[in-house]
Amino acid sequence: MDNENNTTMNGTDDRHESAATAPAAESAPAAQNAAPKLPIEKLSARQLLELDACTRCGECSNWCPAYDQDNREPLTPRGRATQFRDIIRRQYGAFSAESFLGKLLGKKQVSAQELSGFAKDLYACSTCMQCHFVCPVAIDTVELWERIRECIVDTGFGPLPTQQDLVLKTKNYDNPWGQPRSSRARWGKVAKKKKRINEVPKDISKDKADVLYFVGCTASYDTNVEEVGINTVNIFEAAGVDYGILGNKEKCCGSVLLRMGDAASFKRICTENIEQFNALGASTLVTSCAGCLKTIKEDYARHGKLNFEIKHTLEYVIDLIKAGRLKLTQPLNMKVTYHDPCHLGRHAGIFDAPRELLSLIPGIEFVEMERNRENSRCCGAGGGLKSGYPDMQNQISQKRVKDAVQTGATELVSGCPFCYQGLQIGIQAMDAPIKMRDITELVCMAMGLAPATHEDTEDAEE
Ligand code: SF4
Ligand code: SF4
Repeated sequence: MDNENNTTMNGTDDRHESAATAPAAESAPAAQNAAPKLPIEKLSARQLLELDACTRCGECSNWCPAYDQDNREPLTPRGRATQFRDIIRRQYGAFSAESFLGKLLGKKQVSAQELSGFAKDLYACSTCMQCHFVCPVAIDTVELWERIRECIVDTGFGPLPTQQDLVLKTKNYDNPWGQPRSSRARWGKVAKKKKRINEVPKDISKDKADVLYFVGCTASYDTNVEEVGINTVNIFEAAGVDYGILGNKEKCCGSVLLRMGDAASFKRICTENIEQFNALGASTLVTSCAGCLKTIKEDYARHGKLNFEIKHTLEYVIDLIKAGRLKLTQPLNMKVTYHDPCHLGRHAGIFDAPRELLSLIPGIEFVEMERNRENSRCCGAGGGLKSGYPDMQNQISQKRVKDAVQTGATELVSGCPFCYQGLQIGIQAMDAPIKMRDITELVCMAMGLAPATHEDTEDAEE
């Protein structure tokens, strides 16, 4: 991974806007003009009703990680729903600015500047779904934010300039890193050369296999988290799993496009992936990434049928243990806490499996953070927040790392390369006395295999 791309994805460059100062989309019409009408037909009748269902109780504000960093009402889920409702009422309906009653009541047209400001607030959200879980009227907030983002993209006001790069690169290169398709499987060849794996994973499109290991863009291209793929391969090899990867034919799952509001591009990549996956004849798709899991398992269902099961690596490892194909025998003697990735936990409902897996590893002392499971604090990396508002993501990540350090744990474990990256940012910023680990690393150690670690990766690069 070259520095330029590392900087872009890790959000460690100097783009330090707050929600109030982030620039508007370059393509946004001139600020003084009336804003184009939002295509509200993208919202279902239920979603339009949800805008009115909000009781304005403010419970969501007490939990929202973005509002926690930037205390402005428009950033709260309540404020966002209210702003949007106000905009569409002024564009449509009996009291619209153009209507007789609207003119009589002095309703103002929605200006481009106003819509641009709303877009900045709308994208200051990690789509963590915490607001849904605490909302007393159970508003399906993230679905609502994503549909509203679609409206904003259609009118040329989103995503924000610092997020457009991710979308463009995903559209042009099938990965948000802008790396060539031809180097997607390079990590496996390099790992074999450096003797970190025994064999390069086979190409499942040429040689059929029972399991498709969907590596995902982050673990494939980001050398800072390549140990996730390496450890997974070593676990599969040791357990005798008949698996393969798509290598250079693997494409992004499209999550970034969907979260950013580019529904048309998502549909294109999703339907191509469904066709490619279904043709393989695999019984199970296993992925290391919480975002890939949520997207393929839940969002793809709107565009087609999948002819295989979808599992996260940690769920699949539990299956292998239960089938007697994998044994965790080496005590680790570690104090461990677990961070629930938003897309694995709140979005996909997988809370028990990681805890079960950790309980099967001998010698582990497991401690929960105060905020766990449904109320787990987000690491801030999702929903485009890391590229749109890197400072905010850094602060959110530090808060989560503080939660982990307070438990007295020495290891912070998660099951998502994106959280792995996102929490590393907080650990590094605080120089925190805790080590970030993907759950596959602990599984390797407990199997008696030499795990690939972040330090090994850094040493291997020197
Ligand atoms: S999804 Fe998360 S970040 Fe976004 S508004 Fe809800 S609580 Fe805040
Ligand atoms: S918790 Fe739900 S009802 Fe209460 S203000 Fe937030 S979105 Fe509205």
